[in-house]
Amino acid sequence: MQKDSHEPFFNEETFPKWLVVCIDNLNDAIVITEAEPIDAPGPKIVWANKVFFSRNGYAAHELIGQNPRILQGPLTDRNTLDKVRAALEKWQPVRAETLNYRKDGTTYWNEFEIVPIADENGWFTHWISVQRDVTERKLMEAKLAELASTDFLTSVLNRRSFIDKLSEEIDRLHRGYSQSLGVVMIDLDYFKKINDTYGHAAGDAVLKDFSALASNSLRKTDAIGRMGGEEFAVLLPNIDISTAKMFAERLLNSVNSTPAHFNENLIHYTASLGIAVMDVSMIRTADDILMNADKALYQAKQEGRNRLAIY
Ligand code: GH3
Ligand code: MG
Ligand code: MG
Repeated sequence: MQKDSHEPFFNEETFPKWLVVCIDNLNDAIVITEAEPIDAPGPKIVWANKVFFSRNGYAAHELIGQNPRILQGPLTDRNTLDKVRAALEKWQPVRAETLNYRKDGTTYWNEFEIVPIADENGWFTHWISVQRDVTERKLMEAKLAELASTDFLTSVLNRRSFIDKLSEEIDRLHRGYSQSLGVVMIDLDYFKKINDTYGHAAGDAVLKDFSALASNSLRKTDAIGRMGGEEFAVLLPNIDISTAKMFAERLLNSVNSTPAHFNENLIHYTASLGIAVMDVSMIRTADDILMNADKALYQAKQEGRNRLAIY
């Protein structure tokens, strides 16, 4: 749909000098590319304002004539690029955010809108892209998402995101990606006594030290969440009962041999553990497995604490 002649896009009439000065001094980058070809090598950049070059760390002559793809890298999201490409193929304006790569390999988040420009006959001749560096906003969003999903005191998952993760794992089980699933429910023993003896701040220190100890004993696919108070849960995807038991025994031993630190005090504490391992036929919701692990935990408490029980 592009017209044949390759006359320059700019002349004094369509693009007076004063307007270029304005555009060059924007904080947003403006990039003009030819409309075609969509397929490789893709439309070439014919003009951009100054900030486009400085932001990407290139001299103007290094980018003019290139396809904007030069700013993509291994972590640039392919799905987003596909969405952009699908819109461009239909000559539709599109807005998206991608991770861009500067010449030196460092990255920034680029929010951009691309609109097609037509000539007086209605032929699309160019794309204009307005681009904004939104790295700070993206970092803030990631930070907020992390805060919303982790427990403030111990930095392990909070109850809600642990259950979300467990539900995802149950979903994977039902879609055949794993065979069975384990949950270990953990409750610290006589925790009231720790608070009463050493103070609430010492109790907090125990919770933190236990969280760190337990987190260090996880496989890459496992997860730990604080379910409330001094109660934790560990998610063990794709595990059999004997491996889950081994994990729980190791954790019990580490707790026994690793007192928590609070100021100059070493605080010895213990925990009770309840294990539930279920396969696809037994488990529908997160509650199913949490309840069973809870029953096993109750049994471990009944039998004297500082031990594990299996549902
Ligand atoms: P058990 O062996 O039966 O588990 O005894 P327990 O004393 O641990 O029992 P319980 O669950 O009744 O007590 C838990 C205590 O944990 C009560 C509460 O004051 C304390 N606790 C809950 N959340 C926190 C917290 O964030 N910090 C501190 N320091 N203590 C907490
Ligand atoms: Mg307790
Ligand atoms: Mg408790």
